[in-house]
Amino acid sequence: MISRARSEQLFAEALKYIPGGVNSPVRAFRAVGGQPFFVNRAKGAHVWDVDGNELIDYVGTWGPAILGHAHPKIIKAVQQAAEQGTSFGIPNPHEVTMAKLICELVPNVEKVRMTNSGTEACMSAIRLARGFTKRDKIIKFDGCYHGHADSLLVKAGSGALTFGHPDSAGVPASFTQHTIVVPYNDPEALRAAFAANSGQVAGVIIEPVAGNAGLYVPKPGYLEFLREITAANGALLIFDEVMTGFRLAAGGAQQRFGIKPDLSCFGKIIGGGLPVGAFGGRADIMDYLAPLGPVYQAGTLSGNPVAMAAGIAALEELKATNAFDLLEKLGAQLESGLRDAAKSASVPVTFNRCGSMFCGYFTDQPVHNLADAMKSDRERFKKYFHGMLDAGVYLAPSQFEAGFISAAHSTEDIDRTVAAAAKVMKSL
Ligand SMILES: *Cc1c(COP(=O)(O)O)cnc(C)c1O
Repeated sequence: MISRARSEQLFAEALKYIPGGVNSPVRAFRAVGGQPFFVNRAKGAHVWDVDGNELIDYVGTWGPAILGHAHPKIIKAVQQAAEQGTSFGIPNPHEVTMAKLICELVPNVEKVRMTNSGTEACMSAIRLARGFTKRDKIIKFDGCYHGHADSLLVKAGSGALTFGHPDSAGVPASFTQHTIVVPYNDPEALRAAFAANSGQVAGVIIEPVAGNAGLYVPKPGYLEFLREITAANGALLIFDEVMTGFRLAAGGAQQRFGIKPDLSCFGKIIGGGLPVGAFGGRADIMDYLAPLGPVYQAGTLSGNPVAMAAGIAALEELKATNAFDLLEKLGAQLESGLRDAAKSASVPVTFNRCGSMFCGYFTDQPVHNLADAMKSDRERFKKYFHGMLDAGVYLAPSQFEAGFISAAHSTEDIDRTVAAAAKVMKSL
């Protein structure tokens, strides 16, 4: 029997001082039941909880840990930068190195502005798109997450073609009246939304591979269609690559699929585990930002030297090792292993994967959008999640999250994961 006594004690204390005991809701295990565990050490593909249990980690701090946890080059860069001072509020050389690296690696980024989170990046990109086009409306997709800014916490409502509804208390309905939500992978729905809002759409924001409702990929031709319809309507195409950037290829999903967005948002990997975000794109659009242009955007800690040093070390290492072939191989190994495990246990699973991102849905139907994802048997997922956790494998504590493989996962880690899954699947 696995002891999590120390975690339980910490969680009881956390509940007294932190709402729900956590600083971000999905960590609370509400979707799977039970209690979160606390971790005080992570290295490579493994994390250790405070009771000393070791786990193979497929959450990877929700995406950033593509090189594995505590990569020596990142740790060293952080130490060296910190010794020089943790923040200046004055331009520092790391900012220039980081901006150059991003522009060099991502095919459609000519200029970039750093932020402190993915939320800030998306919020700022939306404001920029509105300022640049002098239009108010934004189109987003069901199941895509772009951070917790007011105008993006929106779900489709009864008037889905013309406006969305707040997806959180505290967001005035009037704040969301300019956000239109349409289903992913549905060209007709997008066409209809443009037709109903002719000349009013500033931009379309999308996760080019959707990783915040599990994982689903764009159907062939869908991203090309987005590029065409936005251009034809004078709207900007915004790729939210906070998750996919530097993960699906060195240049993100836009490189992998060969699409040219006008603006792109980043986060997660570019911080090397520290809090960082960024948005960038066409120079003529980016120059609309203050101090050059009329769109205001700022940040006391944006471009922070320690965070930049960590991010630069991560991006340089990715570039130098070209980890993407390895990630693809590990992804394929995990995919075939888990498919076999599900099959031999006669459990219907739809396994979606793109490179090192994956999700297994407990349904025999294909999953192309949020409505499809909702068909997954969540009771089964709960059992699967806890079974895997007890077997030493940490998956995201929700059916509607992507899994992440890192370059630090070994083929043995994958083998052990598959063996655990084969056992757990039989008990579902
Ligand atoms: C994580 C994520 C965000 C939000 O980033 P934070 O750093 O959590 O604010 C935005 N968009 C996508 C696609 C994400 O995966």
